[in-house]
Amino acid sequence: MEKFLERIGRGILLVDTQGRVRFANPFLVERDLLTPDWEGRVYYEAIRNLDLIKVVHDTFAEERPQDLTFKHREDWYRAVSLKEGEVFVEVSPLSEEMRAKERNKEFLANVTHEIRTPLTVVRGVLETIYEEEEDPRRREMILRAIKRVENLIGVVESMYMLISLEKSAAKTIRPIDLREVFEEVVGDLSQEIRAKGIKVHLQIPEGIKVNADPEKFYLMVKNIVDNAVKYNVEGGEVFLRFYEKEGRKVVEVEDTGEGIENSQIPLIFEPFFRGSGEGGLGIGLAISKRIAEFHGARIEVESEVGRGSIFRIVF
Ligand code: ADP
Repeated sequence: MEKFLERIGRGILLVDTQGRVRFANPFLVERDLLTPDWEGRVYYEAIRNLDLIKVVHDTFAEERPQDLTFKHREDWYRAVSLKEGEVFVEVSPLSEEMRAKERNKEFLANVTHEIRTPLTVVRGVLETIYEEEEDPRRREMILRAIKRVENLIGVVESMYMLISLEKSAAKTIRPIDLREVFEEVVGDLSQEIRAKGIKVHLQIPEGIKVNADPEKFYLMVKNIVDNAVKYNVEGGEVFLRFYEKEGRKVVEVEDTGEGIENSQIPLIFEPFFRGSGEGGLGIGLAISKRIAEFHGARIEVESEVGRGSIFRIVF
């Protein structure tokens, strides 16, 4: 067994309940992921990569398996962990194809991050000018510019979210109140809802909890409700419901909008796919789909052109 573990092309690490490294195969030391004198040392002293330390730490803290892609020196690895009293971690090198994908993501993440900062500065400057300007016509123009910049910031943030979701980073899952999330989303969209004269029926009972990452879950709900408003008719309606079916929790968003052609339904979840009419960048639903998967849920769509659509998050 030991001979076999010495030769397989990936790392194996065992950390006991006291946090001490009990077993490691040579791979980890050869790749400089572990100090050569690891035996019996606490894991955060023995492991030489912060991401890998985090994987072990989170496995202990959250009592759940972790799955993280990370870079060390010039190489990419994937660490998968398991807790059975002790923590067991498998570290495998990524294939060339996966490495290329990771490099792409890293590049995109850097670009989006770099763009966000100057955009925030521009927004700040515009807001100051707006406050000092007295001419109503100019104020209106500045306000339009602020809206544009805010849209762009939204796009950049969404792209960043899309990329970081794919990195399957550590999860922060806790029970959240469904009705509260929807109340917050409806509140945040109140301007759009009012402008279009939409009537929102919040039919989710109080006290329903789902296990979710609060920030990501909020974003998914917001994207779907935002679409139900955006692609609705003037004076239309939106119904927000919760029920249980075959032991699964279901959250439903129904609108009385333009509907979606059946043949287009699989496409709307593709990044950058956009139907006709107004709309954003076409990544809202792509993000929502990944967020649903992240929670072990799926999104179902039922739609009829000219009548409206139903989006269901099924847990
Ligand atoms: P965006 O809204 O930014 O274009 P999304 O990813 O949220 O991007 O949606 C992709 C496309 O799916 C939209 O452009 C629109 O054509 C269609 N769509 C999404 N939700 C609805 C809806 N509730 N009713 C009709 N069409 C919708």
